[in-house]
Amino acid sequence: MLVRPTPGGGLNWQAQFDNGRDCTVTRRCKNYIGGEWVDSQSTEVRQVINPATVELLAEVPMSTEGEVHAAIAAANEAFEEWRQTPAVNRAAYLFRLRDKLEEQFEECARLLTMEHGKNLDESRGEIRRAIQMVEVAAGIPALMQGYSSEDIAPGIDEYTLVQPLGVFDCLAPFNFPVMVPFWFLPFAIATGNTYIVKPSPIVPLSMQMAFEILEEVDFPPGVVNLVNGGEEVATALIRSPDVRGTSFVGSSKVARIVYRTCAETGQRVQAQGGAKNFLTVMPDANLDRAIPNMMTSIYGCTGQRCLSGSVVLAVGEVYPVLKERLVEAASRLKVGNGLDEGVDVGPLTTKEKKESVLRWIQVGEEEGARLVLDGRNIEVEGLPDGFFVGPTVFDEVTPDMQIAREEIFGPVVGIIRVKDLDEAIQTVHGSRYGNASTVYTTSGKAAREYRHRVNCGNIGINVGVAAPMAFFPFGGRKESFFGDLHGQGRDVIQFFTDRKIVIERWL
Ligand code: NAD
Repeated sequence: MLVRPTPGGGLNWQAQFDNGRDCTVTRRCKNYIGGEWVDSQSTEVRQVINPATVELLAEVPMSTEGEVHAAIAAANEAFEEWRQTPAVNRAAYLFRLRDKLEEQFEECARLLTMEHGKNLDESRGEIRRAIQMVEVAAGIPALMQGYSSEDIAPGIDEYTLVQPLGVFDCLAPFNFPVMVPFWFLPFAIATGNTYIVKPSPIVPLSMQMAFEILEEVDFPPGVVNLVNGGEEVATALIRSPDVRGTSFVGSSKVARIVYRTCAETGQRVQAQGGAKNFLTVMPDANLDRAIPNMMTSIYGCTGQRCLSGSVVLAVGEVYPVLKERLVEAASRLKVGNGLDEGVDVGPLTTKEKKESVLRWIQVGEEEGARLVLDGRNIEVEGLPDGFFVGPTVFDEVTPDMQIAREEIFGPVVGIIRVKDLDEAIQTVHGSRYGNASTVYTTSGKAAREYRHRVNCGNIGINVGVAAPMAFFPFGGRKESFFGDLHGQGRDVIQFFTDRKIVIERWL
């Protein structure tokens, strides 16, 4: 195996791809602060492992509090000049960013698959979404306008100014290492704020590459900053009075902590949490179309999506045929290294995540659910140590079981039988989460009732992954979201700006 030491920042990723999977980059991730790549002084590091091959890809430092404060100071220093840069000029940076991301699209996708495990098409989909955020944010001159009224009293006019606030940060989860920071970063800087990203320490490499691209765009120093680390770095950011707001995406447990801490600090906060998403299948559903769509929802990204379907509600007489076809389709999915063509399901991202999914399968058996497809002993040729779990299906699940209530975050689904649409909706409402839910039906009436009544932030109608486009807001309800304004779209522009009222008399 070729081991290629490369410097962090400004490195040659291409060399790695040229050598395919036999080349390991042994590198220590750097921080990007005030326009410079800097080594963390921390001695605490975490290893980044390719989950398919279990090769060591890199080490990531758990940066110090002092390094967080340096990033905040750099972002604060950059703010005044950046906010005064006309919106059309700020947008011009985003156009350049878009082009550079497009140029390095394939490299970004490959790196993402190598550190995360999702298959190459899924990585391409993620990078595509990130680019779309940049494209939408580039419309900022038109998106950031206020409104005005003439003669609110004789000779007096009143209008709003829409202004940025200062330094914002993103605390990202491991499952979408590029897309999630890009739900926020392009909009934050487009609106004239400065920004700090703290990636998940499990998958820091894609953001290293993204920041190399941001560096090429030549933003003024301090406009965009990257600090690697875990809980300590996050805590220093949310406790800082010099940070104006935090966008968090991750588990509900941590979302709640972040929401509470930001409230105490006085920061704006949007905290997106975990999920348990139900797919309701009506007796009139077109199964030829629904089944492949459900495969993507349940097993896509190895079930590690906050929008993954993880419980199927089989309504009435659809149950026997649905079960048979679902198991048959799931058993045909190809498990393997996401870099290989034709692979449907890559590995879980870490050994611990694989062990957690295996534990959940055991819990399901102990609770009395019937395991009709068992992915536990899957073998992938040539990759004996990869963190693979094959598609798994439980039948005879009931709503009170833990496997129907808790987020498993793996390629596991449970089937619950319900008698009608009303019982399906009641079952969805029994969950403490409210991120997404889908109904498969050919009835407009059933679809209308579902979208009207179901208490989730995202509803799919014959769409199993109800992921909003960049120009729509993205956020759940109940324990899936803590805050007011969601990510993406107009919501996030509001999150990153404040309105100032001017009342004016010249006569
Ligand atoms: P996580 O909560 O473990 O970590 C998220 C981030 O918080 C990481 O950057 C982590 O370093 C940091 N962190 C950890 N402990 C912290 C603490 N005590 N205080 C402050 N920050 C802390 O989540 P994860 O396992 O990386 O991501 C998976 C979870 O994210 C799943 O629950 C998934 O549903 C959820 N998710 C939700 C959405 C959504 O839109 N609702 C999108 C993607 C992922």
